[in-house]
Amino acid sequence: MGEEMVICIGCPLGCRTKLRIDRRGEVAKVAGNKCKEGRQYVVEEYRNPVRTFTATILTEKSIRPLLPVRSNRPILKSKLKEAARTLIQKKVKPPIKMGQVILPDILNTGADVIATDDLLN
Ligand code: SF4
Repeated sequence: MGEEMVICIGCPLGCRTKLRIDRRGEVAKVAGNKCKEGRQYVVEEYRNPVRTFTATILTEKSIRPLLPVRSNRPILKSKLKEAARTLIQKKVKPPIKMGQVILPDILNTGADVIATDDLLN
């Protein structure tokens, strides 16, 4: 048994919740949430936290040295550093349109890394 504090970011209230964890590592009780959706969010955040991956990628043959990118869906939080390391090894050349896939299925997560801006010459 143990306890975990998780802040719900489901809405601007930002409820501070307390999760009671049983011997098997499962969530036995949630307190501090003000709605059902918040309970669902914090349990999922405890079990399987995900984040949208955001970064910049080096460019070549462009006056702009970096292009901002993000994943088109959240990926496991535990994979964010590895995703950043993967991106460091890549360079892109113009022209690139906002929303264009830069790196498909990063780390076999099912998420594509896409440009969040245009890259012209
Ligand atoms: S628990 Fe509900 S009310 Fe509280 S922050 Fe999360 S979504 Fe908002």
